[in-house]
Order: sequence, then C-alpha cells, then structure tokens
Amino acid sequence: MRVALVTLFPETLGLVSEIGVTGRAVRDERLNITAINPRDYTEDRHRSVDDRPYGGGPGMVMRPEPLAAALEAGKDYAGAGAPVIYLSPQGRRFDHARARELASLPGMVLLAGRYEGVDERLVRSAVDEELSIGDYVLSGGELAALVVVDAVSRLLPGVLGHEDSASEDSFAQGLLDCPHFTRPEHYAGEDVPAVLLSGDHAAIRRWRLKQSLGRTWERRPDLLEDLQRTRALTAEEQK
Ligand code: SAM
Repeated sequence: MRVALVTLFPETLGLVSEIGVTGRAVRDERLNITAINPRDYTEDRHRSVDDRPYGGGPGMVMRPEPLAAALEAGKDYAGAGAPVIYLSPQGRRFDHARARELASLPGMVLLAGRYEGVDERLVRSAVDEELSIGDYVLSGGELAALVVVDAVSRLLPGVLGHEDSASEDSFAQGLLDCPHFTRPEHYAGEDVPAVLLSGDHAAIRRWRLKQSLGRTWERRPDLLEDLQRTRALTAEEQK
C-alpha cells in the first residue's frame, strides 16, 4: 500500500516508519509511506501556510493553495484513485470496519490539519472523506493519521505473521479478544487458568471463545447487538 501524509511535521512519520510492526512493513515494502510538507508548495518569501480567519476570532487557518498542491503530489505518490482523507474531529468515527476497507485499497492520501483547521473550500474541493479518531480535539492531525496508518497496516497481507495474526484481535470477529497470559504460572496471587496448560487445543479454543463472549457482553454489549443485527440481515438475504 502507498500512503502519502500531508503534514507540516514530516518528522512525525518516524513513529510508524521506524518502529515495530509498521516499521517492518516499511522495510519489507508492504507499506510505502512518505510525508509531504505543504510548506514546500508555498510561493511567498515567508513560506506561509496559514493566515488569519475571515470574520476574526482566535487562531489561524491553513491556506488552501499550498495544501491543494501538496495533496496533488500526494495523489501522484499514492496512485490513481487513492482517496484523500482529512483527519478531523468533525469526521465520521474511524473504526475496524473502515480500517479493513482502507486496507483493501492500493493507496491513500492523509491530510493532517493544524491551527484551527483548513480552509473549508479546500475540504469541499479536494477531500473525499473526513475521519475522526474520537470525540476530543487534538492539536494536530498527525497522531490521528498515524493511528489510521497503524490500524490499516496491521491488516495488510503478510504484515503480521501467523503468530500475531490480526484475525483474533478485538473487533476482527465482532468480539473483544480473550485475556492472555505468559510466564510465570503464578503471579500476583493468581494462577494461569489450568485449561491453558492442558495442551487440549479444542478445550483452549472453547475457553477463549467463552472469555471473548463474556468480555464483550460485560464491556461492549453494543458489539453483540451489531453481530445479531448482521446475522439477522444475512439470514433475511439468504431467504
Ligand atoms: N477547530 C477545529 C474543530 O474544533 O473542529 C479543531 C482543529 S484542531 C486544533 C487541529 C487539527 O487537529 C484538525 O485540523 C485535525 O486535522 C486534527 N484533529 C483534532 N482532533 C482530531 C480528532 N479527534 N480526529 C482527527 N483529527 C483531529
């Protein structure tokens, strides 16, 4: 997958491109990612990317022209048809389902805002989708963009080995993941559940499924309702 991140802070890319699973995906060239700085697309002496808001008020607004040029460069990198996604607290909430859809694309262009955000005309003319990572306001879109890149990269074919496959992670099957344990066998007054030491793989699978269902029931009953709705729809379609 080819990802272009339009940002005033290209150095933030290191958080995904240099470490962990995503860093390995970059080294293996399953993930190609670049940062494009709108400041490199300014034409004035001060290389200004922001200006005062019309109508007054606090803060600055990102100017549309350097952003439009940077997004064009991003599209050249990410490939034809790559969606332009503006990370914004006003966007649709990013979730596992959207991560999976994005992981099936060959590329995407992410736009990280700063200050009070970007000129609305740029959003209307050059952005395909707005995504939020939650109901709070960050100082900039970089962390949100990196959240999207990380979640999407894990779902790219070959990025996770069999051992840490994403298929049993929370949300993959519509449930939360089961609890995990490692050595020592006894810790903080608690033993590792005996079934995990039994070597009985069928029993371990059943125990894990039961734990997943229990946790989801306790912590996120909304996910079980979603699963029930999906099942009902599928049954209806098969009639
Ligand atoms: N004035 C804007 C508003 O209230 O909607 C907030 C601007 S915020 C200080 C600066 C930038 O951070 C935004 O342009 C956006 O790119 C990013 N951002 C802030 N919160 C975000 C969130 N919850 N999800 C995604 N991006 C966010």
